[in-house]
Amino acid sequence: MVRTLPLFSGLIVGWFLSQPSPAKPAPVIRQVITTKKVLALTFDDGPSRTWTPKVLAALNHDHVKATFFIVGSHATKRPDLIRAELKDGMNIGSHGTEHLLLRNKSADVIRQEVQTNAQILESLGSPKPTLYRMPGGIADSTALKTLGQMGYTVIGWSIDTRDWRHRNTADTMAKMVEQQASPGAIVIFHDGPNGSEATVGAVKMLIPALKRQGYQFVTVQQMLKLEHRPRI
Ligand SMILES: [Zn+2]
Repeated sequence: MVRTLPLFSGLIVGWFLSQPSPAKPAPVIRQVITTKKVLALTFDDGPSRTWTPKVLAALNHDHVKATFFIVGSHATKRPDLIRAELKDGMNIGSHGTEHLLLRNKSADVIRQEVQTNAQILESLGSPKPTLYRMPGGIADSTALKTLGQMGYTVIGWSIDTRDWRHRNTADTMAKMVEQQASPGAIVIFHDGPNGSEATVGAVKMLIPALKRQGYQFVTVQQMLKLEHRPRI
């Protein structure tokens, strides 16, 4: 009995260690905590044949790297634009395969929506995406747990240009970003079907204006590395 006890307790410890750890919800980041004057421009819903090349040209003109949250079903139709983004050093994140709103969906449905997009992006030469932007800004607790299990960080935003509503002019949106800018801010634009000349114009205006204020533009991935204290 005395001899078998260590073996028995070892088996119990082994059983506990082999159990999957409870799912931790994915972290949701709306702004990175940093003292550095950095901003991240993000573009959702692309790529689109009309707007993505114009946005890329505006960013490249000022040597700015940004983050694109890609819809997989759009990427398969315009693979050359994903390759162009990668060639230009842009950060690629996931925005789902079909832009599915992750509310009241089963873990299996969520996993498939997110995993298929990762496979599409990897097949086009992207590293495995680790950043996810929730369509419609929606992710319930099942979604956050599933995304956490899959190793994703969920990226929100702190400056919403609402460009998809097509109400704001380029000038209005550029001024909005200038006024709301603060270290670690994440700005949301759209380069998919809801993109517009106003979006492209705002990007062209705000980059030099914020550079004059001492801001640097970085990708979300780069900005996460500048976080100066751990989140609780
Ligand atoms: Zn979207």
